[in-house]
Amino acid sequence: MAQPSKFVFTREEAKSPGDSLINIPFLIPLVRGPFSTSKVVALGFGSSGRVFVGVNVEFPGLPLHHSIHAEQFVVANLALHLDKKLNCLALSPPEAPCGHCRQFLQEIREAPEMKIILSDQNGDNVSTVSLESLLPNRLSPDSQLPNDVPRLLEPRYNRLTLSGPDSDVPDRYPDLKPAGLVAANISYAPYSKCPSGVALVDLQGSVYRGWYMESVAYNPSFGPVQAALVDYMIRGGGGDRGFTEIVGAVLVEKKDAEVRQEQTARMLLETIAPNCDFKVFHCCENPKEN
Ligand SMILES: [Zn+2]
Repeated sequence: MAQPSKFVFTREEAKSPGDSLINIPFLIPLVRGPFSTSKVVALGFGSSGRVFVGVNVEFPGLPLHHSIHAEQFVVANLALHLDKKLNCLALSPPEAPCGHCRQFLQEIREAPEMKIILSDQNGDNVSTVSLESLLPNRLSPDSQLPNDVPRLLEPRYNRLTLSGPDSDVPDRYPDLKPAGLVAANISYAPYSKCPSGVALVDLQGSVYRGWYMESVAYNPSFGPVQAALVDYMIRGGGGDRGFTEIVGAVLVEKKDAEVRQEQTARMLLETIAPNCDFKVFHCCENPKEN
């Protein structure tokens, strides 16, 4: 049986939320951020009982809005492991979720009831509050989406099919296109209806994937390349060599989508993975797809 990733722990391996789980410092070396004075580690307690680790990730040479917040890393980690709900979140002391992430977390069903664990600098004085108490006047998905629309982390299928050949250049990495389509089909984009998915491959031939996750407040939305980089990190891609071992990438999104990822995905990948062969394939909705 495979050993669990250091980014995912069973309930038995991690301390329960009620304990002083601020055993987090041993996870700090996982953080990749040259700028932060605080290395943020987040632990997310999923509905399956597993505990998911997130860290902040920053990209030298790029604007800070490309950064991955630890809270969003946790959500992507849950999504990649098909955990349907984040029940409880804790950050390395004395951090609390930032405003950007408090809003992003609203996409999870019953978000106001989500438990947030707070503590002081030393990890003492642990208290548990609701997310609602940290963001009382939220911008709510519930005002825009019918109740039966799957929320973030809930199973969804976008009925996307590839819309035809976009290039006559032979595919160096043929596994990426179908992986990118699968990712786009899981993507959460209920507001723009512009889902997208990314698949990456490294020098060893391992394939990683991630998908776009949208926020009702738009700006906290989480990009598909960032989500795929979370998959890369949690599965040990690159090791000490970081992202430079990524040699191929595919983005699947709708042609002429109002929310397009292509340009920003290209810029991000060119900066962090200069040897990456990046391709875009377009898709369309096919109502007959099941
Ligand atoms: Zn944040």
